[in-house]
Amino acid sequence: MTPLPKIGTARLAYETGHGSGTEADRGLARANSLTIRDCCKTYGAVTAVRDMSIDVAPGEFLTLLGPSGSGKTTLLMMIAGFVEPTAGDIFVNSRRITLLPPEKRNFGMVFQGYALFPHMTVAQNIAYPLKIRGTPKAEIAHKVNEALDLVRLRGMADRLPRQLSGGQQQRVAIARALVFSPDILLFDEPLGALDRKLRGEVQLELKRLHAELGATFIYVTHDQDEAMTMSDRVAIIDGGRLVQIGAPSELYERPNSRFAAAFLGRSAFIDGRLVARHGEEAEIAVGEARVRHRGPVPPLADGAVTLSLRPEKVRIGTEPPERGLNRARGTIESVAYLGATMEIAVATAEFGLLLVTAFSAQLGTEPATGTPVWLSWAPEATVCLPGETAA
Ligand code: ADP
Ligand code: MG
Repeated sequence: MTPLPKIGTARLAYETGHGSGTEADRGLARANSLTIRDCCKTYGAVTAVRDMSIDVAPGEFLTLLGPSGSGKTTLLMMIAGFVEPTAGDIFVNSRRITLLPPEKRNFGMVFQGYALFPHMTVAQNIAYPLKIRGTPKAEIAHKVNEALDLVRLRGMADRLPRQLSGGQQQRVAIARALVFSPDILLFDEPLGALDRKLRGEVQLELKRLHAELGATFIYVTHDQDEAMTMSDRVAIIDGGRLVQIGAPSELYERPNSRFAAAFLGRSAFIDGRLVARHGEEAEIAVGEARVRHRGPVPPLADGAVTLSLRPEKVRIGTEPPERGLNRARGTIESVAYLGATMEIAVATAEFGLLLVTAFSAQLGTEPATGTPVWLSWAPEATVCLPGETAA
């Protein structure tokens, strides 16, 4: 099968490096690398960010994903220059900017509550960063129009912010953040105030903009779907620490920890003990039961493992499954009907509660709670993580 072309390949044109190409032929776009090296931030006894090292490639869309209080905003504020790191360094294209004031960094920023100037028109709002930079009038007019086109707000130039919808206002804020050809664009939960449908639309807009501009985007969110939808790579952050960084599919298919598996997507966890290895396959004891796992096994201190099992990899039926699969008998405890799919929780004696996602069209009717069922999953279905009993 031919792989689908990746949205965002447009940025390759800009990856030849900084300094190449003139302002004119790059338009509003820039692609710079960002390096975060061993950054820490403490507030008294609170460590907001610890030992953070991330390399962001030129033109990459990187999302910092983590629960509330995990240190995402603190890290973004260090990148922006509003918060001074307690330790560590930050570089743009290998130039150290750790102590450079924000106004000298030339970064574009969009925040959730980043209010537009209410008494200024859309065009005046977007022109503002150019004005304070002393850009000539004719160039301002040209760039504002270009930015309006990019966020598809041409025709709204003379409106006041209050005459726009929430989504349109946020697009003005985005236009204002990119109109001055920022070296990097930073976003801190910019869509938090929008309703679900609008969020989805602006997410796709942002992704298109990123592809069109080719600029480096660093985006903060606590919403895993948002992170998955838009990003080239996602950095999962917990307690100020980088848990794992990778492409969305990589994080989903090969989480490195229970936290990563649970935070990105849904998963059941089966705690057990490694008892034997036969080539690619490992035998895991879970009480009296045995589970076959095919795939990597991380280094283990004491043989304790946790298997992560994604709900869409579990099959459900009323007949005993074919041999060669892991199997469990159970009863349906709850069914959530989600339209295209149903999420079914099944209580099993050996493995506790397992989750199943099944296509509604394949199941036919909604199964009743209390129904006895068979579950099965292939040995390849699980991801083996170090057991966290001791940690
Ligand atoms: P997030 O954006 O992921 O929700 P934050 O970066 O805002 O997380 O906060 C991380 C931690 O640092 C939290 O425990 C928060 O209370 C603390 N923190 C953030 N800013 C300050 C500050 N200015 N003073 C003291 N503690 C702070
Ligand atoms: Mg925050």
